[in-house]
Amino acid sequence: MLNVGNLEAGSRHDLRVGLSPDAPDEDDLRDDGEGAFGYVHSYETSSRYDGPGLRAVLFVSGCLLRCTYCHNPDTWHLKDGTYVSAQQVIDRLGQFAGPLRAMDGGLTISGGEPMVQLAFTRRILAAAQQMGLHTAIETSGFLGDRVDEKYLACLDMVLLDIKSGDPDTYRRATGRDIAPTLRFAERLAAVSKRVWVRFTLVPGLTDDPANVEKLARFVAPMKNVEWVEVQPFHQLGSFKWKAMGIEYKEADTVAPTRELVDRVLEQLRSAGCHAR
Ligand code: SF4
Repeated sequence: MLNVGNLEAGSRHDLRVGLSPDAPDEDDLRDDGEGAFGYVHSYETSSRYDGPGLRAVLFVSGCLLRCTYCHNPDTWHLKDGTYVSAQQVIDRLGQFAGPLRAMDGGLTISGGEPMVQLAFTRRILAAAQQMGLHTAIETSGFLGDRVDEKYLACLDMVLLDIKSGDPDTYRRATGRDIAPTLRFAERLAAVSKRVWVRFTLVPGLTDDPANVEKLARFVAPMKNVEWVEVQPFHQLGSFKWKAMGIEYKEADTVAPTRELVDRVLEQLRSAGCHAR
């Protein structure tokens, strides 16, 4: 029997590890039950960065990718999160629903990867919709094949991280195959689901013009994609790698220059993407 913990506010930049040592391995989890309980890293109540308007952002635990530049490696494992009830999350969200609605915002579930805990995140998204809140997830799309129509119906939009256009670069950056993400992107396009694509620009890893070109050409025809957002790599998460004792390949990587960001934006726009 797992003990239910307290739902702690905080920030994506907080280091949280080892809070639920008895949690299952995220690779083995098939979260197809009621989703009454789940593992959470933290939540923020006033982000203007994670979707339209003012957002509450819930950071859930569990991710199957291992991005070399990940800012939150303490969200990879369920065992590092806090075990909470969905009702705790929903009650807390209810306290902020009024201001979020007034500021044309809503709820974004990020992580980690929201699709690792499908039933849990769907339950929270559905409750948010019942409160009249706009709903979004930020996802790599890697587990998109697990998502059914019922889940998609709980989403007003998707922030889809496409971490590279080139399959080899994608594998080098994430340790995984690009195909499930591209499949999910095509499925979202087929049902005209509103999407902002996010691309992390990591000098020496994802900045190759050929890599950006492949991403640009894939996304440009998709009418449902409003924006491609270029997110410059930063080192704000490096202390987590150190504290967790895991090898950090990007320790010496510097943030992209303004010129590099502009080059990538220009490349995306030239292909026909709305990029920012
Ligand atoms: S998908 Fe996100 S949480 Fe998962 S490893 Fe990559 S950057 Fe980190």
